[in-house]
Amino acid sequence: MPSIDSHAHVWGAGFVPPAFFRKAAEGWAAKADARTPEMIMPRLLGGIVDESGDDFVANMDRAGIDATMVMMIDVGAPLFGEEPETPVEKQIEFYAELQRRHRGRLYAHVSIDARRPSHLALTRSAILDHGLVGIGEITPAGASVADEIMRPMMRLAAELGVPVQVHTRTGVWTDFAGIDFTEANPVHPVHVARLARELPDLKLILCHAGFPHWWQVAAEAIADLPNCVLDISNWNEGFHEDEAELIARLATWRSLVGAERILFASDQASGARFTGERSTLREWADFIRNLPANAARWGTRFTNEQAAAIMGGNAARVYNI
Ligand SMILES: [Zn+2]
Repeated sequence: MPSIDSHAHVWGAGFVPPAFFRKAAEGWAAKADARTPEMIMPRLLGGIVDESGDDFVANMDRAGIDATMVMMIDVGAPLFGEEPETPVEKQIEFYAELQRRHRGRLYAHVSIDARRPSHLALTRSAILDHGLVGIGEITPAGASVADEIMRPMMRLAAELGVPVQVHTRTGVWTDFAGIDFTEANPVHPVHVARLARELPDLKLILCHAGFPHWWQVAAEAIADLPNCVLDISNWNEGFHEDEAELIARLATWRSLVGAERILFASDQASGARFTGERSTLREWADFIRNLPANAARWGTRFTNEQAAAIMGGNAARVYNI
């Protein structure tokens, strides 16, 4: 069975406006007297760029990953009050080209903020004219995916039969774990479940499986909703320190949703700051490939078939590839 990474990010030049990194830059700058956000910003902005996707694919090769689902994120004016240098129309063309250049290796998604009047037309054309394979990553802000403003795009995805990837980590953007763990938070998994109930034909991926605080509610919310699957990206963060806990969670997810609805994913980002020596993709993939042996060390049983399904078989089924 193939190894498929169901969730990662490749960025072109000028896709992210400086506003996206302002908080992070201020945080870094505050740690040393001689540093200013202006000194740090170019490194943050440039460090994620991979214009051809070649470096990203080389990184996949080192980890034995056959195919990756690549996300687009519209982090422009509706979200950060500032448009990126490269407009979203051009970003869609970039992802179409990326998919052409790395055919069968990279599968690209489209994501346009629903507050842009053109979002439906752009999304439809990205899928039908440019051949992008899904919608995502959506990081709900202001409204959840179940809210009215999102419904036309969600109906379109159901109509076209393409999966939608929705961020359900408790923190958003450069804030890893967040501070609001209530359902008032628009990225809470219950909103994805509500949408899934209303549109049973829509395939939904709960990205990051509620990392870290909603790990259980994410699985419980979708237990009876076969159109939803979990992706386990971000769960490799510090997994060596608490392997027993991660194994226990994987086993609980399996009890609640079944091994056939868990997808291997990394949230791997492109660019020099994240690939090569700095990437832990190989370790993470090997951990899931060797899940039967890893689980046995902690008194839990996973079969080879289950590990292979999580590692790629499930994603291949969800995406019909
Ligand atoms: Zn995310």
